[in-house]
Amino acid sequence: MKIPAGYLRELFQFSLLILVAVVAWQFLHSSPSVASDVYPYLSSLSPELVKQCAQENRISPTTSWEDLLAIRSTLPENDAQPLIDQLRTHVLFADLNWAALPLNTVRTVQRHRKILQQYPYYQPNKYTFPVIGTTWFEDSFGADRERGKRRHEGCDLFGKEGTLIVSISGGRVEELGWNRLGGERVGIRGDDGNYYYYAHLQYISSVLVKGQRIEAGEPVGSMGHTGDAFTTPDHLHFGIELTNGQWINPYPFLAVWKILE
Ligand SMILES: [Zn+2]
Repeated sequence: MKIPAGYLRELFQFSLLILVAVVAWQFLHSSPSVASDVYPYLSSLSPELVKQCAQENRISPTTSWEDLLAIRSTLPENDAQPLIDQLRTHVLFADLNWAALPLNTVRTVQRHRKILQQYPYYQPNKYTFPVIGTTWFEDSFGADRERGKRRHEGCDLFGKEGTLIVSISGGRVEELGWNRLGGERVGIRGDDGNYYYYAHLQYISSVLVKGQRIEAGEPVGSMGHTGDAFTTPDHLHFGIELTNGQWINPYPFLAVWKILE
């Protein structure tokens, strides 16, 4: 039997259409990737250095905190100072004279500055520490939970029951109410795309509604010990989930926001 050429052509076109649709669907539904050096670099910055650069920021109207932090966090003092001196005399970052610094080193400083601009977690006044009142916290990310069944995917901030908890950034309320582990919990989709998780609350702020807009510093609720924290001291469990679904250690970020208060 002879298959008509027109039929074959239509079959081919149809197959091509399916293929294009599948590729487009996968492209649209793939999670946005985060370059592998972004969070290791951001997490490595000491709160003291971030604070120093936030204050030094005022040395010149043409200098930004990213310029200073990228230079100071990447280079030893001897190499950093001549560059900072140039910034002081209103030289733009793009016009810096890098003198004898190797090209690779210059590229690293430029890369770090780009990360700070794209991920402005340490930009003065953009993010807020979530606990208003006395609190203490340490790095317990990855600690064992439920005898090896899962790992601790956040940071616990301890304090008195009822202590005010506020949103660390602007965003939209995505989850609200009770779940088994988190108890009374609030999930906020930050303007940066990340998901910020506040758990074990005593009460959730009564004005919050799913889908609603919230600004940095606006109340989320009060500290408690609900959910699987019912036998533990009062604390806020705070989590950060990246757009690619990965939970990262919030401790370095909390430490910076605390010192910048
Ligand atoms: Zn926790």
